[in-house]
Amino acid sequence: MSSGVLSETSRDTRGSSTTKDPVPSVADAFGSLVFTDAEQERRLPKTVHQALRRTITRGEPLDASVADAVASALKDWAVEHGATHYTHWFQPLTGITAEKHDSFLAPTSDGRAVAEFSGKELVKGEPDASSFPSGGMRSTFEARGYTAWDPMSPPWLLKFGGAVTLVIPTAFVSWTGEALDKKTPLLRSMEAISTQAVRVLKLFGSHAERVVTTCGPEQEYFLIDREFYLSRPDLINAGRTLFGAKPPKGQELEDQYFGAIAERAMAFMSDVETELYKIGVPVKTRHNEVAPSQYEIAPIFENANVATDHQMMTMETMRRFAPKHGLACLLHEKPFAGVNGSGKHLNWSMSDDRGHNLLSPGTNPHDNLQFLVFCTAVLRAVNKWQGLLRASIASAGNDHRLGANEAPPAIISIFLGDMLTDIFEQIEKGRAKSSKQGGVLDTGVLVLPKLPRDTGDRNRTSPFAFTGNKFEFRAVSSNQSIAYPNIALNVAVTESLDYMATQLEKATAAGKSIEAAVADLLPKVIKENKRIIFNGNNYAKEWEKEAVKRGLLNQKNTVEALPNLIAKDVIGIFEKYKVLNEREVHARYEVMVETYNKTVNVEGQLMVLMANRYILPATFEYQKQLAQAVSAVKAAGGRSVEGRKTLDRLTKLADQFKGRTDKLEKALGHEGHGSAEQHAKHFRDVVVPAMSALREIGDELEAIVPHNIWPLATYREMLFIK
Ligand code: ADP
Ligand code: MG
Repeated sequence: MSSGVLSETSRDTRGSSTTKDPVPSVADAFGSLVFTDAEQERRLPKTVHQALRRTITRGEPLDASVADAVASALKDWAVEHGATHYTHWFQPLTGITAEKHDSFLAPTSDGRAVAEFSGKELVKGEPDASSFPSGGMRSTFEARGYTAWDPMSPPWLLKFGGAVTLVIPTAFVSWTGEALDKKTPLLRSMEAISTQAVRVLKLFGSHAERVVTTCGPEQEYFLIDREFYLSRPDLINAGRTLFGAKPPKGQELEDQYFGAIAERAMAFMSDVETELYKIGVPVKTRHNEVAPSQYEIAPIFENANVATDHQMMTMETMRRFAPKHGLACLLHEKPFAGVNGSGKHLNWSMSDDRGHNLLSPGTNPHDNLQFLVFCTAVLRAVNKWQGLLRASIASAGNDHRLGANEAPPAIISIFLGDMLTDIFEQIEKGRAKSSKQGGVLDTGVLVLPKLPRDTGDRNRTSPFAFTGNKFEFRAVSSNQSIAYPNIALNVAVTESLDYMATQLEKATAAGKSIEAAVADLLPKVIKENKRIIFNGNNYAKEWEKEAVKRGLLNQKNTVEALPNLIAKDVIGIFEKYKVLNEREVHARYEVMVETYNKTVNVEGQLMVLMANRYILPATFEYQKQLAQAVSAVKAAGGRSVEGRKTLDRLTKLADQFKGRTDKLEKALGHEGHGSAEQHAKHFRDVVVPAMSALREIGDELEAIVPHNIWPLATYREMLFIK
């Protein structure tokens, strides 16, 4: 039974503790720490297993007796693998993930302890919810919340620090049923899009009962030596460098992209991948990215709910494993100013319960027609709900990418590629109808040539690109959970599919064929929404001007973008499709504004600290050395012209630097009884510029103060020593 535990023990007695376990093959390792479907089937009575499958595949409620049986099997499996504790793992409104560990052991009346785990403990947990941000939701109602098992995402074992813990993925809700997390609305949004997509599929004669959204997030990140990381308070506490002059050798050489992966980084990746395989995350690709010391990891796509959990696990695992290799893993969107930042490309599609990708062009006119309807629905969704999409990726960190000196810009647009754009243009111009072949739609339009798969790199500047059989939301930040952008997309496309389905149902009910109904509808929808299509260089200045002409939003920062979330029509669709009610939307908005304020505040405080306690003392030290050198030269009867000049320049910079530090400190001290929004505006308009102004002088000082005195690791060291 406990073969895993036994064999490990026997290995330990055979060799020294440094003997390495034989490396298991990838296939053996994959999912070995997951309570997989196969494991469930093996351990559960048939009826229980079937009931559980129905819950997983059709969302049917789980009854108490089934939960008890599942809990018991799950506990046995976990204990056999050495687990002593279990945790309900969830995704609160801020932060990454949260967990509270409880022991399986329960005391017995005769003073012993036995491993216990009931269905109730599996299904429902009570974390101390008061410490999690709720955007004011709980204060007005019930002060507690509970975590509820998400049977769709399988439990796994976390082996860390010598402990083995059973991790149960859960949703976090208040006792009044309001969502206190990111998973609950994600699940609701997947339900909503399924309902509308099935309506459209039905019009095309499909018998599909459910549609799931699929996603494959590509994660970019930096790896730097941990010693450097530990020497920088800004990296430790803000995740990015707040000072730092550009390195002499920049990424402009572009010899990094797809280049050889340094040995330490390779060892780290291999370790992370092995661990992720074991806990069931299907990671697939790894490569160097554009910037020096920047890398990417990407999984094979999965159901969006599981993919979202797996993405959190990926980030956690990377953070956890880096120190083992003497590295620090930086997930911030812009750890180094002037160097390419990190994003997370969210590849997104819809798939029916037979596994057909709904965004894959078909091989016959009928399938192509259906593909065009789904594709047009996304086009309309992104145009109509661009504000919501923009807000879903807004954060203080992402402000350094979007709308700053980096692509993609803050303007949301769609890259369709030349061929699909051409097809859309033809449909819009109504060429379809003037077909000589007599059909309702020109088959020349409808029988699409097999679309060549656009590699994601064809247009690296677009925030939202069609890449052959999926869309890729590229403006997502490296540091964020993919839950919000997924939810935003799902809700937007749900509304769009609802609109399309309603129009098409009306037309077909009036006797039109589905082909004719589509031929009537598409040109109109394309005409109304085509302004969102842009295949050019999104980084160019002209695009900004062009976008203004087209009436597209260009919200350059979080403070500007977040109010989109609480716009009346946005709340309207969240409520209509039962994804979030008005209070739940507001709660998320409030937490996002607060998070922005806290982030900028921490960064500002850190800069003041680093200025006063690191950079100024070093500057004064050099000033002293220079002054002594100038005096010494004078005493020896000479004149140190250059020494004098440097000293003057240094003195001037030091004074300026201190002046700007004090100014920043004052800006941060701004007290006021304003709203969170007013604080946010103050941070954006006063604090952020004061930070930039201070940094400017700090970076100038870095170029003058000798290396042996400069107290911070430099960009050159951090980025090029591997
Ligand atoms: P590229 O490297 O050209 O961008 P890939 O095929 O490597 O394309 O895909 C990148 C990411 O997109 C991977 O994580 C992959 O799993 C994901 N992906 C592929 N197909 C889909 C799909 N139908 N739905 C969601 N994600 C997908
Ligand atoms: Mg990509």
